[in-house]
Amino acid sequence: MENKTFQVKILVIDDEQDIREGCERILSRMECKVVTAPDGAKGLNILETQDISIVLSDIKMPGISGLEVLSQITEKYKSVMVIMITGFSTVETAIEAMKKGAYDFVSKPFSPDQLRIVVKRAIEKLHLTWESQALKLEQQKNLADLETEQSRTRAIIETLPNGVLVTNMLNQIVLMNPVARKYLGLAADKGVGTQIQDCIEDKGFHDYIKSVSECKTDDQEGTIKSHELALSDERYILVQGRPITGEDNECLGTVINLSDITAMKVFDRLKSEFVSKVSHELRSPLSVIHEQLAMVMKGEILDESSDNQYILGRAKDKAKNLISLIGDLLDLSKIEAGSTGKEPEKIQLGDFIGKIVEFLNTEAVKKDQTLEFNLPEKELPEVKADPIALESVFGNLISNAIKYTPEKGKIVVSIETEDHNIKVKVKDSGFGIEQRHISRIFEKFYRIKDDNTRFINGTGLGLAIAKTLVNELKGDILVESKAGKGSLFTVLLPVSK
Ligand code: ATP
Ligand code: MG
Repeated sequence: MENKTFQVKILVIDDEQDIREGCERILSRMECKVVTAPDGAKGLNILETQDISIVLSDIKMPGISGLEVLSQITEKYKSVMVIMITGFSTVETAIEAMKKGAYDFVSKPFSPDQLRIVVKRAIEKLHLTWESQALKLEQQKNLADLETEQSRTRAIIETLPNGVLVTNMLNQIVLMNPVARKYLGLAADKGVGTQIQDCIEDKGFHDYIKSVSECKTDDQEGTIKSHELALSDERYILVQGRPITGEDNECLGTVINLSDITAMKVFDRLKSEFVSKVSHELRSPLSVIHEQLAMVMKGEILDESSDNQYILGRAKDKAKNLISLIGDLLDLSKIEAGSTGKEPEKIQLGDFIGKIVEFLNTEAVKKDQTLEFNLPEKELPEVKADPIALESVFGNLISNAIKYTPEKGKIVVSIETEDHNIKVKVKDSGFGIEQRHISRIFEKFYRIKDDNTRFINGTGLGLAIAKTLVNELKGDILVESKAGKGSLFTVLLPVSK
């Protein structure tokens, strides 16, 4: 504590000039600042304007008496210490003054030493008071700091994007942020203060927290082991914890971090579904080809009989399907990576689709189907797109209509405009699609296998590709269909500005 910065200022009030001067001389040598006043009124004036710590006041003075001065000081200046100068051993007045709040007294006549001792005691007491005041201030400041620190930490924990949970050694939750509460679906009355087992049912989770508190979660490389919590609403939470250890390495509780990994899990599932679908699609044609090749090697089909030609022809078809499947997959991965490479061009959909219809008409003719193309009277606005992408979209929709419509059926392709969109409709009188399949036909590899479609070739990628391409152009594909009643596919494309 730095007290040296404070210089004690003493006021001496006495009507006797000798006493005033004597006191001033003695006290100045004690490194005090001294001011004097010849009577009570002047003394009180000085107190009002100057920062006085100790007052030495005569008891008997003309005008305001010493006791009156004392009572005014104790009332107005609580921290000022008053030492009374009493006349010729009037012990009673000294006692009375002490009762009224004087700190000490010194009797006239006094020696310089007597004065020094009394004043020194007062100064020491003053320093002690200052020290304790400074300590108190420091303490208050520390408390305020602590409070700000605590509320800051609280704010950080509350706003963390992850869930945070802290348990104590009795396995009770002692802290939990709103995200953790949300993840664990806890009611308002559950949480802080409750046993972890009462909040979360998952046994694996309890075991994990137990192993964290036993410090069993870090392997040699220091990676934290984790636990996956599967929630009832098909969400997955990754639980990672660390023990909180005390000075002797004893476990005081755990800190648990919760992160939502549902999206990652869904992605993982889709990835393995995709891999298994692709492998499935590749395996059956490859095994057919393998069989045929084995026959060729055994020399079983060396002549040019029509049976053998048929077997080899099937192998060739299978190989062709495989090549087209791989082509589709490559297209799809390019589209999904957003790199079809081509710069968009302004396209007149009337001419453009007309050509596709004309080209695919040969397929329709083979099945004795009518393929109609209707254009509106007025000129169509242009769309801005990569022509190869558009060809793939409409090519697939029209060839689907031909493929999934029996012989002698009817397919109508038409174009309409609406607000800022161009609508291309591909309507067929074919097999139609049952409601339960409609939401799935845009999935990769999804094909409906029933008596109508069993012998129709395809990979199930056409609509997936079309949908991705159309979405990329900020358009949409809509389907209306009923089993046995034909289908209507509508492509909405924004017109180019
Ligand atoms: P790909 O187009 O890759 O050669 P695909 O035609 O089987 O093969 P998609 O175009 O994605 O694949 O179509 C998926 C499935 O949706 C088809 O297998 C078929 O069952 C159904 N489907 C598509 N278009 C029609 C349609 N016009 N009428 C009836 N069913 C259809
Ligand atoms: Mg198709």
